[in-house]
Amino acid sequence: MKTMKCEHMLNFNELCVERPVGSKGNDDIIALLNNVFSQLNYKIIELPMKCTLWQSNYSFIEQNNRKIEIFPSPFSKELKGNYQIKYVSSLTELYGINEFNGILIFKNELTKASLFPRNFPFYFPDEDKTKYELIQKINPKGIITFSGQDPVSGLNPFPIFEDVNFEIPTAYVKSLNDIIENKDISLEINSKNLQKKSKQIIFKKEGKTKEIILIVAHMDSKYFTDGAIDNASGVYTLYEIAKLINATNFNHTIEIVPFNGEDSPEVSGQLAYLKYLEKNKLKIKYVINLDGVGHIDSENMFSFYNFNEDEKKEIIGKNKILEGEQWYSGDHGIFLFQDIPCIAITASSMFTDLMKITHTKKDNMDLVDIKILKKLSKTISKIIKKLDANFV
Ligand SMILES: [Zn+2]
Repeated sequence: MKTMKCEHMLNFNELCVERPVGSKGNDDIIALLNNVFSQLNYKIIELPMKCTLWQSNYSFIEQNNRKIEIFPSPFSKELKGNYQIKYVSSLTELYGINEFNGILIFKNELTKASLFPRNFPFYFPDEDKTKYELIQKINPKGIITFSGQDPVSGLNPFPIFEDVNFEIPTAYVKSLNDIIENKDISLEINSKNLQKKSKQIIFKKEGKTKEIILIVAHMDSKYFTDGAIDNASGVYTLYEIAKLINATNFNHTIEIVPFNGEDSPEVSGQLAYLKYLEKNKLKIKYVINLDGVGHIDSENMFSFYNFNEDEKKEIIGKNKILEGEQWYSGDHGIFLFQDIPCIAITASSMFTDLMKITHTKKDNMDLVDIKILKKLSKTISKIIKKLDANFV
């Protein structure tokens, strides 16, 4: 007797759900992708990994019977009680504080941009290290940060801290008018972290050699967003590419990897994948990263890194594609510094219009044009075949 597999085509809207690593939405997308890729006869590899799921609730600061809502920073610890407060406007002021057993309120110079999580494996700037060291020396009970428009997402206000292992509870807000220093406040930061297990999935198509052409698009989203352009559209394109190249025999092994953790400070999926490469002594020859593609009425731009100039020109000319400026805040960044040739693809509107909506509720499926994604998957399939021919 033949078992019937449930035939299922991937619909773009199924991917547009809130899906931070470890959440139900994320687990559902893993199951969905495993289902549709197994029907294409890709080999599925699952790397188990630990991750943290964040839960938050209404939080506030109160003084003189005035209650103001504040927002817990993602992955903040919980805090409840009555505290002294102290405003801090600059790094110089922060240097001047020895110890403070209350709530520090950061503003101005200290809240221009978010800090990297401590010891972020791919990049950790010295100025962030200095700030963390000063804070740990002062050892406040908690920190509230004032912020406006995030320079790199649509959030307004935006969190300055996003670090699973930071022991000091933090929250953010636009401002706290009339909250004065010489009177205690009462405060609740309702936020907690749960330990979860998840997976990094890999869809593999064996070639004549073990050397890999890697095609990636992160599958996780931030909290409180459907993440359609960031990055359901990239994941959908992976599937379209998988269909187009399914019948081709390649020299290289093709790995299609929906990275699970680009929008998480833990980057668990990326780290699990790097460990898998190391353990199996696998070598990456090329990387193609899709992040933020298919914006309606826009073109996709292709940024090249570590490519031979002639080869780059040939790819651009033959495929009539738009070359983009280099950017580094994506999964290709992990491979750039190992001198691996990478192509990163994003909408040409990413660093202008789209930057104002990413990581917010506005990032929904109406922003994405499926026709652009289908066309893009054809172009990328051609580029993969061209790169595969560079085989010695
Ligand atoms: Zn993204």
